[in-house]
Amino acid sequence: MSNQKSSLLTETESLRFQTAIDAVIKAMRLCEQVQIEMVSTDAIQKTDRSPVTVADFGSQALICKAIGDGFPDNIIVAEESSQALKENASLLERVTGYVSRFCKDAPPSAETVCEWIDQGSGEVGQNFWTLDPIDGTKGFLRRDQYAIALAHIVNGTVQLGVLGCPNLPHRLNDEDTERGCLFVAIRGEGTRLYTKAGEFIEQVHVSEAVHRFAESVESTHGDSDAHSRIANALGITESPIRVDSQAKYGIVSRGEASLYIRLPNPDYPDYRECVWDHAAGLIVVEEAGGTVTDANGIPLNFLTGKRMHENRGIVATNGKLHQHVLKALAKS
Ligand code: AMP
Ligand code: MG
Repeated sequence: MSNQKSSLLTETESLRFQTAIDAVIKAMRLCEQVQIEMVSTDAIQKTDRSPVTVADFGSQALICKAIGDGFPDNIIVAEESSQALKENASLLERVTGYVSRFCKDAPPSAETVCEWIDQGSGEVGQNFWTLDPIDGTKGFLRRDQYAIALAHIVNGTVQLGVLGCPNLPHRLNDEDTERGCLFVAIRGEGTRLYTKAGEFIEQVHVSEAVHRFAESVESTHGDSDAHSRIANALGITESPIRVDSQAKYGIVSRGEASLYIRLPNPDYPDYRECVWDHAAGLIVVEEAGGTVTDANGIPLNFLTGKRMHENRGIVATNGKLHQHVLKALAKS
């Protein structure tokens, strides 16, 4: 990685930062290779009927292995488990094949790959990593946006966030621009944007000049009618930016949207957001100068378990807009 900023970091923090970035870059490459070569049997349905692919498992295996090697005692709370793979020999073989491409010196057995994946079965506590190996798997399957999201949380505060977005253009809506972005945020050090190969592009900042909002592509993951009403109340006239995954936080962090809104879908009133779906994105926006809370203005609580039981919905803004959004929500 070029032009990294580690002067104010302790040796352990520096190692953590470097390990996280290297692991996410490797996982992005694995995901891209799977996407190019994907066959229909590479995706299956989980018990909750959401999709999971060879790439989700491979990404989690590589990242958990890297953290386990660097920090053997660290706890990782990741989305996937090897359960489904153990019941599907051909899928496990595919995952092992992809993971082995990135471990040429010592290709792992299928059993070892399952062990690496299950290093991610830790519990939320005072000091843990959280990982979504592919956030926005539906976007990945549509060859749209998806993200590899890794965060380190200490005493409930996100200290480090790494968000790899292999398909995200360096500038939105610019056909000439390269694709593949890596957002890296360290508490107190700002948010930096790198290429997917880890070359520094720029320090990113939210914008007060842009007046546009971002929401999910998947209509069941939010309440797009309510999002539009809030946008109207705020005087936002531009069409929404619809993007899968935590790439939406990246888009707010670099000033392409002033708001990312995710209100609970009325058909799923009991849905609670998962820690791995928001921790990395939150610090990416906060360190770029923005604000993130739930839809009631309550800070995200990453200590209530894998799901954030005390929070409802998400509001991420450029900071300036935040109170206006909360007021509009309170009135609605
Ligand atoms: P996005 O790409 O922003 O739509 O977010 C993808 C994430 O939405 C997945 O990782 C799921 O964990 C999450 N998700 C699934 N169902 C719901 C729901 N009913 N409401 C909000 N988020 C959901
Ligand atoms: Mg996710």
